[in-house]
Amino acid sequence: KEKIKDNELLKKSLKTANKNWEKSTFSWSKKLENGLADIFKIKKFREHQLSAMNAVLSGEDTILVMPTGGGKSLCYQLPAVISKGVTVVISPLIALMEDQLYGLKKIGVKSGMMNAKTDKDITKSMMDALEGKNHDIKLIYITPEYMKKSKRFMAKVQKAFNLKLLTMFAIDEVHCCSQWGHDFRPDYQFLSCLKSMFPGVPILGLTATAPAKIISDVQKMLDIQGCLVLRAPFNRPNLFYEVRRKPADKDVCLSMIQNLLKSRFADKSGIIYTTTIKEAEQLTSDLRDKGLKVGCYHAILEPEVRSKIYSRWITGEYQAVVATIAFGLGIDKSDCRFIIHHCISKSMENFYQESGRSGRDGKKAVCIVLYRLADVFRLSPMVIGDKVGLQNLYKTLEYCLDPQTCRRSLIANHFEEKWNKNDCAEMCDHCRCPKKIKETDIGNYCRQIYQIIDKALKTDTNLTLIKLIDAWFSKGTASHRVAAVPVPKFSREAGENIVGFLLINGYLKEDFVFNAYSNLTYLIKGPKAGRAMDKSHKIMFVHDEGLGI
Ligand code: ADP
Ligand code: MG
Ligand code: ZN
Repeated sequence: KEKIKDNELLKKSLKTANKNWEKSTFSWSKKLENGLADIFKIKKFREHQLSAMNAVLSGEDTILVMPTGGGKSLCYQLPAVISKGVTVVISPLIALMEDQLYGLKKIGVKSGMMNAKTDKDITKSMMDALEGKNHDIKLIYITPEYMKKSKRFMAKVQKAFNLKLLTMFAIDEVHCCSQWGHDFRPDYQFLSCLKSMFPGVPILGLTATAPAKIISDVQKMLDIQGCLVLRAPFNRPNLFYEVRRKPADKDVCLSMIQNLLKSRFADKSGIIYTTTIKEAEQLTSDLRDKGLKVGCYHAILEPEVRSKIYSRWITGEYQAVVATIAFGLGIDKSDCRFIIHHCISKSMENFYQESGRSGRDGKKAVCIVLYRLADVFRLSPMVIGDKVGLQNLYKTLEYCLDPQTCRRSLIANHFEEKWNKNDCAEMCDHCRCPKKIKETDIGNYCRQIYQIIDKALKTDTNLTLIKLIDAWFSKGTASHRVAAVPVPKFSREAGENIVGFLLINGYLKEDFVFNAYSNLTYLIKGPKAGRAMDKSHKIMFVHDEGLGI
């Protein structure tokens, strides 16, 4: 019986997948087109947006997989606006919902959020909407936690269902349903009742990360097996990916950026991403001193100032904007030709999204990361609050440290996409100029580093990266050094690469100290230290031969 069911589901999913969802002859097609232009002020749909909307408006359960920043929200907001009923949007975070409510308010779309703190009047207007007494409210946002808790809300949703006023359930970050996902949320389990309680109301699941295993898990959990799955491709073939070592000397680094802007990117427009507001301001003024036309953009500028800077960049008065990641939402400059990361991103998702702001016109654009291990330790105290913050950060470190793998395949791998490295077509530094690669056992170096760490522990010294490297290379405070540890014959740069490699592989670990002024990070032995202490334990490090290790 199970098997027959599976076969039927398979047939159905093939049928829905093959249907032409792009066509514009649905009864609602004109409304979508007008709503897009008049309300959302957007010129054209991105890939899969129209298909997703047509599918849900036809009553099909759909899962849409699209990179972050791809425009998933529009796929339920626009159908919600042109439909007569109410769309219930389930989202894991109040902050995410607030952003959306703010955006919708600005374009005059009435919507609201239900949570324990929502004030009575607003709650009432939403409840009224579900009873058909308030036709203005088009979207109601709610967390799964609150949905599970609020019997009253669910009763009203039932009422809306009986009145045929439920347009759809949009489930954002739908991968949270799956135990296999990286942010499984038990409260999403509650959503498993939607399909049976509200048969015929389409479910639209949205996510940026979903390998096949997670998708099928999500489908099972939501009881929408065999539903239509739309997957936007992650690969951006026109983006050239490159990683450069960031010079430790600030002036050398500035000259490097100056050169890039004056020669390789002459007359081209781009963005330079930094981490903090202070850095963005400093870098802007340094680059201006060098005669470059750049603007500075970050979250604490007044809205008017921000939009002035944005328009100067759009019109080409500024060649580049030096920005924190606050510069992102709503950017739509199709001829952005380069992105320079002055500091690595906090996650591959961030990196992908930030670099993805270039080359929107399909023409070649360049994405350069300036990488230095020290920057990782500046970022780690900022991300440690997130459950997987550190893990995410180390992924970008891994991306930068890798000496040979096609950058595109590293990205594809991260998003669990199938990838054939020949498809890069030399659009990354490694494919274009492969380096000579060597493999070295660095077990001894690891054990020498442990000796330095042991000594620091005994003397109550908090070993920062700089202190560690100094001690290793016989520089800095003499008391940190260990006489039995020989000075390496390779460069500090090579030494830093070894430390980075040991860190991402669990031989070293960061230890955090939080005080009133700052959060600091130090290096200690990692979970694999026990194994590594054994002299016969090999740690094979694949690296650029040029490092001289
Ligand atoms: P996601 O949820 O996929 O991460 P969002 O829905 O937050 O992405 O959208 C990211 C940005 O893209 C928003 O500023 C949105 O207005 C914009 N956007 C969405 N669709 C389009 C489109 N077709 N053309 C231009 N901009 C769009
Ligand atoms: Mg989103
Ligand atoms: Zn490549």
